[in-house]
Amino acid sequence: MSGVLRINSDKCSGCGACLVYTNWIREANDGKAQVKELRTLNAEESKLVQELVDLCLEGAIHIDPIVVDNRVDLSSLIYKAMNQLMNVQVPEVKAESLKAPKEQFNYDGKFRTSFDYGKYKSYEKAIDAIFKLFKREAYQERDKAIMSVLQEYKEKYLSEYYLFTDNSFYGKINRQISSILNQLKEELYTASGGRVSLPNDFAVVNIYPNQLVSKNTLETVTLFESVSRARWDVDHEYRDSTYTSADDYRTYLDADDFEMPDRTWWRGRDTREAIAELAKDLQDATGWTYVEDIAAQSINELIKPYRAALEKLMYEKITLAKRAL
Ligand code: SF4
Repeated sequence: MSGVLRINSDKCSGCGACLVYTNWIREANDGKAQVKELRTLNAEESKLVQELVDLCLEGAIHIDPIVVDNRVDLSSLIYKAMNQLMNVQVPEVKAESLKAPKEQFNYDGKFRTSFDYGKYKSYEKAIDAIFKLFKREAYQERDKAIMSVLQEYKEKYLSEYYLFTDNSFYGKINRQISSILNQLKEELYTASGGRVSLPNDFAVVNIYPNQLVSKNTLETVTLFESVSRARWDVDHEYRDSTYTSADDYRTYLDADDFEMPDRTWWRGRDTREAIAELAKDLQDATGWTYVEDIAAQSINELIKPYRAALEKLMYEKITLAKRAL
């Protein structure tokens, strides 16, 4: 009896043993084995494939006998696949799902802590000196600190939308569609006794938003921390609060730790307390922003064209299958 080589991807562990054994099988995007080309095996080939069947410890490889069943309506297989495809969700991202606990917006350690060992004639002069350092190395550098905090947020909460690989948000959806198409292709082939043979790449789904949007859009989304409105939003909120001029941090500067016993001169000392205060204020400000809404808006700019491209691809595949009957 003639048959068709098939692999049950639910059972396949991706060990790769069969890939070494034959070139009829390849590795699919999900790392599992996949038959390269559906075709009816002759008796001799069936014998060879039987060795493959025995080789697979997971029992994932088998030979499906070709038995033309005239009771199977091929169109019904296509409608079944259409229904499955319609159930694949490409959800819009909601800001709620991107929310991070605000205490994780942590600015501590994002600034350089300054020590100034200068020799000053008065306490005020020592404070002036350390104040200049604080302004230059912390206060005026807060934009970089905000960027760095947003970068951490992006890496922790948004990364699956910025990667265009098999394991990303898009890769997982591509795989679902590919698996439905692959099943349709195999079912049509066996049910028609090998007559309906769809192209080898029928089940290949390799769509990613970076192929679909402009360079500008891609940058706005993937470089979220540096080009997005979120950074401005944090700083704006910070500047709107009550004590946020550089002078407000003067009282937290320390210049007397190294004062000489006779008080003839002072050393400017450290900015740590002032920086801790600045970090706390920035964290408070971030807590009042709409960072997640901005992130969701940006990400949806990728999801929208991705969804449209997928719908087009599914329509084309189903049309192709219908024409092949
Ligand atoms: S030998 Fe079996 S389990 Fe291993 S990759 Fe091949 S089909 Fe999958």
